[in-house]
Amino acid sequence: MKRLAGKSALVTGAARGIGAAIARAFVEQGAFVFVTDIDDAAGEQTASRLGSSATYLHLDVREESEWLATIEHIDQARGPLDIVVNNAGITGFERGEHVHDPERASLESWREVHRTNLDGVFLGCKYAIRSMRPKRAGAIINISSRSGLVGIPGAAAYASSKAAVRNHTKTVALYCAEQGLNVRCNSIHPAAILTPMWDPMLGTGAEREQRMKEFVSDTPVRRFGMPEEVAAVAVLLASDEAAYMTGSELSIDGGLLAGSAAAPR
Ligand code: NDP
Repeated sequence: MKRLAGKSALVTGAARGIGAAIARAFVEQGAFVFVTDIDDAAGEQTASRLGSSATYLHLDVREESEWLATIEHIDQARGPLDIVVNNAGITGFERGEHVHDPERASLESWREVHRTNLDGVFLGCKYAIRSMRPKRAGAIINISSRSGLVGIPGAAAYASSKAAVRNHTKTVALYCAEQGLNVRCNSIHPAAILTPMWDPMLGTGAEREQRMKEFVSDTPVRRFGMPEEVAAVAVLLASDEAAYMTGSELSIDGGLLAGSAAAPR
């Protein structure tokens, strides 16, 4: 028996990277998946590779009007959603601006990062609950980060937004339980997963290999994680096997947060 048989899921930022891997894993486990993103060409391609169990919809997670239209469309086309994965996120380094420390970061870039990473998750949870209410059941999965659990001096807005995602997940979990809804809400906290998000930081050519080694030198398992490894955790949280899990946070970080470089030997 497939673990998500008969379920219908929406994944944001699913054109590539972790979102695309989650969409693929969900389809493999029997779900129908709405692949959503702002990169329409890549999103269409990802969905078409998944065959008849997936379709692409444009959804900019920052825009409430787009959430409203998307959820109304899905409700009419296939009925209520069972699973929503709020995955779309940005680091703020995409446009090449590299000053994101608390002293010099611009207010504009701070707001831009929060708009996608935090407003997007707030709206995703709001409209997930709206879609799931008729069935009184569902699973919401928010992709936070290890940066939501510790401070990151060089990525202040990213860390702040991901910490807020962690906390909002718990608020949504408690709210749904209070409402008597069997809607579970959990967060996943990946670290160093090899996706295109890293391209601006790793560069290309000869320096890429060296930078990759440097980035994972503090990771106990000394390697980047793969998007499929995060997708496996999402399958668990989306499935009925996780029926007693809500408001919880799962790290997938190669052991990074298990200890500290400053730990006594
Ligand atoms: P990628 O950058 O590879 O993919 C993110 C996707 O989201 C892209 O297709 C991007 O489109 C899309 N996107 C960006 N903005 C929006 C928006 N406003 N609305 C809808 N889609 C949007 O990222 P990853 O797969 O690496 O990351 C996925 C999630 O995992 C993010 O939330 C990230 O913060 C989190 N994460 C990733 C880690 C990692 O090491 N990779 C570690 C910890 C957390 P476009 O290309 O057009 O911008």
